[in-house]
Amino acid sequence: MRRVVWMLWLIWMPVQVFGAIERVTVDPPPLELEEPQRFGTDPTRAWMPKSAIDSPRPPEYVVAADAADDEPLPVFQIAPDTWMLFGNIAEVDPNNRGFNGNAGFVVTDEGVVVIDALGTPRLGRRMIATIRSKTDKPILYLIITHAHPDHFYGAVAFADLPGIHIVSHEGTEGYVRSERIERSVAYRKAFIPGDMRADAQGRFQAIVPDILIGGPRYGWLELRVGEEVFRIYNTGTHHSHGDLVVHQQKADIAWVSDLAFNGRVTFMGDGHTREMLENLDWLMRELGDVKLMVPGHGSAQTAPFPMVARTRAYIEALRAKMAAAVEEGLDLQEAVDAADLPEWRNVRLYRLNHRLNANFVYRELEQELFE
Ligand SMILES: [Zn+2]
Repeated sequence: MRRVVWMLWLIWMPVQVFGAIERVTVDPPPLELEEPQRFGTDPTRAWMPKSAIDSPRPPEYVVAADAADDEPLPVFQIAPDTWMLFGNIAEVDPNNRGFNGNAGFVVTDEGVVVIDALGTPRLGRRMIATIRSKTDKPILYLIITHAHPDHFYGAVAFADLPGIHIVSHEGTEGYVRSERIERSVAYRKAFIPGDMRADAQGRFQAIVPDILIGGPRYGWLELRVGEEVFRIYNTGTHHSHGDLVVHQQKADIAWVSDLAFNGRVTFMGDGHTREMLENLDWLMRELGDVKLMVPGHGSAQTAPFPMVARTRAYIEALRAKMAAAVEEGLDLQEAVDAADLPEWRNVRLYRLNHRLNANFVYRELEQELFE
């Protein structure tokens, strides 16, 4: 496999292949939480939709605290050999136990390709059990679309599988080795310390993948596995320290991750909203005719992909609001106080994320003024 990757490197784009997947221990003490939970998973409304495609209501799925690591999670078939894990739309809490994002896997005759790893080492182990409930073919690749916890912290469970390669954007490495990751780990440990255990001492570990994708934005790496082809696009840093979009070509599915959000307000804590707008336009140009898009949050969607236009509209409205505030000379606090977008109030996670997003975009626009 490594030879194929190097060949592709020579032809198409820089990838770095390390000798091995590396584990990095991150072991901060749990945070004392000042604020109560604001949007968790409600066990009294527990339910699962029948389909993960164009479903108007996301799961309200309670992850049992005492479930065994080898117990499969609920999974939806979205194409003949393609499966999706459909997460709750909520903050991490003791009911969803970090299952608040999507992931998926594709079974080819040669082996399995996994896209994202869910939000805790324990969910990663249960995701492996889920794959094992559908096939005993070897798990060959795990592609991490970006290193935010809800997509990435399960990756350590995959790291020990024999022969696996893990792929991510090169920005993952700097993030895993930075202090920034500590707060995010500490936050999860405050709710679900047991689920965050990755090593024998009960500490959390993040991983540095062995295949890191760099190079120009929209450059791509192609993985041919069995009869399926995965074109993995570098989409820069629109949402995190390094974002990827995957086109599963034979099934014609675009795994867009957190480039578009379905049924909830986006979160801007890293990344760049200007890049995000450019990338949403790129997505519709490059992959606007696919059969299905799978976002990182919310159900998979068919054409005309309204979640792309919705995400774009939110980012544009927020940028316009903040640009006006900067122009009027409002300070950060005044600008955030004036940032309300009434038409978005009823969308999930608005109350939780919007003010944080406003804060982020205000500072981003100030920065852009100096460029
Ligand atoms: Zn996410």
